[in-house]
Amino acid sequence: MNEFIRKIKDVASSLPETKIMEVCGGHTHTIMKYGIHDILPDNIKLVAGPGCPVCVTAQKDIDNVVELARQGIGITTYGDMLHVPGTEMSLDDARSLGADIKMVLSAEEALRYPKHVFFGIGFETTTPMTAFLLKRGIRVYSTHKVMPPPMKFLVESDSAIRGFIDPGHVATITGIDIWNSLRVPQVICGFKPDQMVRSIYKLLELIRDDDPSVVNDYPEVVRPEGNVKAKALMSETLRPIDSEWRGLGVISDSGLDPVDKELDAKVVYSDLLKDVKSKENPACRCGEVIKGLIEPYECPLFATVCTPEKPQGACMVSRNEGACAIYYQFSERSKGA
Ligand code: SF4
Repeated sequence: MNEFIRKIKDVASSLPETKIMEVCGGHTHTIMKYGIHDILPDNIKLVAGPGCPVCVTAQKDIDNVVELARQGIGITTYGDMLHVPGTEMSLDDARSLGADIKMVLSAEEALRYPKHVFFGIGFETTTPMTAFLLKRGIRVYSTHKVMPPPMKFLVESDSAIRGFIDPGHVATITGIDIWNSLRVPQVICGFKPDQMVRSIYKLLELIRDDDPSVVNDYPEVVRPEGNVKAKALMSETLRPIDSEWRGLGVISDSGLDPVDKELDAKVVYSDLLKDVKSKENPACRCGEVIKGLIEPYECPLFATVCTPEKPQGACMVSRNEGACAIYYQFSERSKGA
């Protein structure tokens, strides 16, 4: 690893102030756990982007699923979604008031509740599991999202981002071609600290050479064609939609809803959802965190009012992927230093 730290310093010495972004909560976790920010030269700024599915799920979707639960529709979902604050309440609050909400650890477990609506979230990595449920006739409220449309959005709205650390797990499913459409330097990266340091070096080389290529630096897992079976299952059961992202707004063709309208909870229960009102907590700066405009420390609520035990916003919920929750775990400020 020392060799690549030295190489990063060499390449960085020929670069101006350079902002690069990771778009995977797993990468944010490695970066913070192993102090990768600390080995980067001052002119290289590495920021977290929209890589946490829990964080980017729109407030409206949280409120809609809370409303379904309050109206007596049984819900299954993954654990983190229970704790995301809604406008009035979280799913966990609704459950404590008697709503039938089951936390599941896998799609197979959701099959045990065939009459419940599965609240599906995640990028291409988890979408195949939801596709599997749709094939078995489970009704789904989908907030599934795809890469790389939000990255394109960010490049077009914030020209300061010079390159991306691409999410290795997502690329395992998608393959490599889709990332080429961005025309921005990118490196598909693994999750160990030495892999990340090496990939940052390769990304800085591309930036220095003004080379908008995609380097697959995780070839032991990511194949050029991706996971063909998973992609076929997703295409069969889910269709592209314009989707709303927290912090980013509506992005064309960036989400997925069920092909079969009978299995699409948004369609089946549209009457129950038509009057749901949503409002984000104005004090929470998740939107700016997701866009890489501020670091979690810069939110006045960070580690004071907002903690993983009492999250005030979606970015403080997932300890594995949420930028605020990860910074909290590994920052001195959260320990009162
Ligand atoms: S620290 Fe909490 S309130 Fe602030 S941006 Fe993060 S999640 Fe939102």
